[in-house]
Amino acid sequence: MRLLSRVLLSVIALFFAGRCSAQQPFFRALAFYTDKGEPDHVDFAKQAIAFYMDLAKKDGFAFEATMHWEELNSERLKDVQLVLWLNDFPLKPEQRVTFQKYMKQGGAWMGFHVAAYNDSETHWPWFLEFLGGGVFCGNNWPPLPAKLLVDDTGHPVTRRLGGSFEAPANEWYAWRPTPRENKNVKVLVSLAPENYPIGLKDTITAGDLPVVWTNTKYRMLYVNMGHGEKIFSSGEQNKLLEDAVLWLGKRTARP
Ligand code: ZN
Repeated sequence: MRLLSRVLLSVIALFFAGRCSAQQPFFRALAFYTDKGEPDHVDFAKQAIAFYMDLAKKDGFAFEATMHWEELNSERLKDVQLVLWLNDFPLKPEQRVTFQKYMKQGGAWMGFHVAAYNDSETHWPWFLEFLGGGVFCGNNWPPLPAKLLVDDTGHPVTRRLGGSFEAPANEWYAWRPTPRENKNVKVLVSLAPENYPIGLKDTITAGDLPVVWTNTKYRMLYVNMGHGEKIFSSGEQNKLLEDAVLWLGKRTARP
């Protein structure tokens, strides 16, 4: 009888332990976006939300998305291990200060495409340093597919890729100076020179063009993909977009 109840108790304990670990997300991600921007950027954001919602179920993390940038406050971010900016960036000083604090305290960030856009009107020097120093200096038009080189095939974000892959149509951004000149920046993927000249109306003809990089001073990753409806049409690229979130999230996961 005693043995039977002990066995029963163990089974019950195991059952609840299993349930708890299954229900506890490995990390919590919160994505910010807008539906007011360029239609191609809004399309991307909506597809990104669907893509990461599915991944969250598969990979066991929590994913939420909001258009309310006032949620970029310390109270809301207390339980968030990864912040994503899908197609916009904060304009209000208090949101920017909150984000700086969040990153300095070990938070993680993934930004796509226009989220890193900056020029002389941006007036946010901290963010430029955070990005690695590159100011937006041009793009191709129309959006085009491109061959991308994987600069580091051993990194957790890129290790499921080969040395290169064909990326679906995107508007590729050039930066000056190239973030690669920053000793803290690790470039993971860049535009293959054989794409040049790329574009018809607007053409990029030469130069180093990093596409995915991290500033190693922070838990951050920038990916330039994010224009139009084709971004998630490549199984290869999707591996990168999945592994990026897992890499950033797991580094900050609670035990
Ligand atoms: Zn764009």
